Amino acid sequence: MAETAPGIQQLVRDAAGRLEALPHANARLETEVLLAAALDKPRTYLFAWPEKQPPAQQVRAFEQAVQRRLAGEPLAYILGYREFWSMRLEVTPDTLIPRPETELLAELALGHLQGIAEARIADLGTGSGAVAAAVAQSCRRCQVFATEAAPAALDVARRNFRRLGLHNIDTGSGHWCQALPPRQRFHLILSNPPYVRADDPRLKQGDLPWEPQAALKAGPDGLDALREIIPQARAHLAPAGRLLLEHGYDQGRAVRRLLQADGYRGLETHRDPAGHDRVTAAQAPA
Ligand code: GLN
Repeated sequence: MAETAPGIQQLVRDAAGRLEALPHANARLETEVLLAAALDKPRTYLFAWPEKQPPAQQVRAFEQAVQRRLAGEPLAYILGYREFWSMRLEVTPDTLIPRPETELLAELALGHLQGIAEARIADLGTGSGAVAAAVAQSCRRCQVFATEAAPAALDVARRNFRRLGLHNIDTGSGHWCQALPPRQRFHLILSNPPYVRADDPRLKQGDLPWEPQAALKAGPDGLDALREIIPQARAHLAPAGRLLLEHGYDQGRAVRRLLQADGYRGLETHRDPAGHDRVTAAQAPA
């Protein structure tokens, strides 16, 4: 008896059952997203056509994607994109996968920019370009300068800026402020640097082992990158300019202490939607 090819509903049920084995995964949702991508259709198509039997080639592509996910590869790398700030950003294993909590950084940046005409903003270590793109997209009269030390990540960021039609972003290759135009002063400097402690067990869990470790790890206390950025940024801030730094949920106090030691004023630590300390804002030293 010839077996009939499985329909959409059956494909989803079967793959989702297997993906249940993966910790930190939303099996059903991820399966639907992968199948929709393989079919090149919106996810709603799956619910509209539960009995439909997709062509064998697309079923094979879907199965390959499921296998990659079962091996632990992050969904974002399999799809090649992640949504951030309602934008679709290309991501590759050369870039960190943008986190929802990082939207707080963009949100606070836009708050600080209100009332500044033609503001200049620097984003240090832009990775996929997520934060720079969010700010540039929401503030068209702002000029953003994004730096990145990893050439492969910078290529991804540039592609994202181009595809999103963001002409108000310039880029520079190099570490933190070293890649900034030397005489330029910024109204706002922001960064989501690496800040995970080198021995953090989370580095072995979920998506993190697949991400560029240099974008995550920052020495024994997770503060190595912040210790470089904080003194460097001083020389690049306009009078009364602001520095906005993302950090770990338990690093607020340590980051404030570093900022204070360098003469920054008006320190404020903000919580992300999960209620964790996540971003500290500071004003340039007088
Ligand atoms: N927020 C990320 C995480 O904890 C870390 C990102 C970073 O180091 N910038 O997974």
